[in-house]
Amino acid sequence: MRIEVDQMKCRTAGICVMICPDVFRFQEGSKRATVVLDPIPPRFEKKCLEAARKCPNDAIIICC
Ligand code: SF4
Repeated sequence: MRIEVDQMKCRTAGICVMICPDVFRFQEGSKRATVVLDPIPPRFEKKCLEAARKCPNDAIIICC
């Protein structure tokens, strides 16, 4: 599984960072999240799907 955060849609909510901090981090100097693991290790996939579902801005893109 690969994941991206759409930087045009991400708006600071931070839900993804709270749900799965091993995968999602805030970028330095920015309030937008980014993905720090690629590909996503299987043990984090469930949490990533939950984050994508709960992101209020639909900013998390599941690539495969
Ligand atoms: S939950 Fe969505 S909007 Fe909030 S930081 Fe994460 S990707 Fe961005």
